Amino acid sequence: MTRIKDAVEHIAKAIIAQKDYLNMLDKAIGDGDHGNNMAIGFEAALEEIDNMNDDGNPAKVFKAIGTAFSENVGGAAGPLYAAAFNRAAKACDENTSFTVDSVIKVLGEAIEAIKKRGRVEPGEKTMLDVLIPVHTAFVKGKEKDLTLFQCLGEASRAAKEGADYTRTISASKGRASYLGIRSIGHQDPGATSSLIMVRELYNFFQR
Ligand code: ADP
Ligand code: MG
Ligand code: MG
Repeated sequence: MTRIKDAVEHIAKAIIAQKDYLNMLDKAIGDGDHGNNMAIGFEAALEEIDNMNDDGNPAKVFKAIGTAFSENVGGAAGPLYAAAFNRAAKACDENTSFTVDSVIKVLGEAIEAIKKRGRVEPGEKTMLDVLIPVHTAFVKGKEKDLTLFQCLGEASRAAKEGADYTRTISASKGRASYLGIRSIGHQDPGATSSLIMVRELYNFFQR
């Protein structure tokens, strides 16, 4: 089962391709390096994953990404994504496969890790404003008996709405918080990198 490895490769390449765009968003309300940070993290993750032979194991893949981010990426987002992927790895066991239920569990844990590490709640203009609506989309999809693919579609739309919502609020965490209400009108870079990951996971399964 090489699909999880292929999915991560697809997402990593999309993030790397959007490096300048993410830098541009961060230039408006931060220090302009979010694209560089994410590209460094995913380049390192690709290398780790390339060297793995047991590539069907989600726990190992998440651990590889978490390690890549924690060892290579500084700033605010690096350690937060590292915490999220490391917690996601811990939330998996040998039998975890990619299902609606496992996404609800694993993403839920990853969100908790970000909340704790970033001392952050939704509505503060961060990646949580994308990831929490994505999680909610999966929970609602399960209630409606949607397939994994249908849930991903709903999640992708929720992610876009979440990223759009960050334009309407002011930042209270990280560098953008220095701008106060002047951060309103700008889309949050971290929310946007999360949007790209979710959207590209959907696109990967759509091919
Ligand atoms: P830095 O701000 O250190 O340069 P990045 O530019 O890579 O780091 O990441 C900035 C992003 O990190 C923000 O757009 C926001 O989404 C996220 N962020 C910053 N601080 C926090 C926090 N305390 N909790 C959650 N997310 C945060
Ligand atoms: Mg930055
Ligand atoms: Mg920085």
